[in-house]
Amino acid sequence: MKTDGIRTCQSCGMPMSEKEQFGTEADGTFSKNYCTYCYRDGAFTNPGITIDEMAKLGGGMLSQMYAIPPEKAEAFMREQLSCLKRWAGREIALCESCGMPLLRDEDAGTEADGSRSTRYCTYCYRDGGLIEPDLTREQAVEQYAPMMAENLGMPIEKAKEMVGQYLSTLPRWQE
Ligand SMILES: [Zn+2]
Ligand SMILES: [Zn+2]
Repeated sequence: MKTDGIRTCQSCGMPMSEKEQFGTEADGTFSKNYCTYCYRDGAFTNPGITIDEMAKLGGGMLSQMYAIPPEKAEAFMREQLSCLKRWAGREIALCESCGMPLLRDEDAGTEADGSRSTRYCTYCYRDGGLIEPDLTREQAVEQYAPMMAENLGMPIEKAKEMVGQYLSTLPRWQE
């Protein structure tokens, strides 16, 4: 299967790029929305799981991988999950540059004609152009990592690793 770049599982938030990572529909085709851990043969593998249980699982992994205190990792995970289709009831677009969810109209950047962008947030994109068009992925990591380290109480090197990993899943930074 040819995938269109990287998709995020709309149940657990895992990035999916290889076909083995995608779940399957009842007719054997690949799911566009869910990963193989969450969704097989057209149904959720764990239909009764709640967003809090999912946040606990995902938060536990994040906490271990990036040395984040468990409560903070869990709260962060819950926030991420709440923007996914399974938990929000609809798929919420993420800014293709920084990953911020475009929850409300005013979160979206503006096109040259004043309409709202469907791709970028207001911090990254205004009047039809990226605010920092020459920003590289490395520079973006340097910019976002200190905030992340501060918010999540994690070491700066781990924050850089996490932000770098995350940005690589967003369309603006894919090579
Ligand atoms: Zn999943
Ligand atoms: Zn943005």
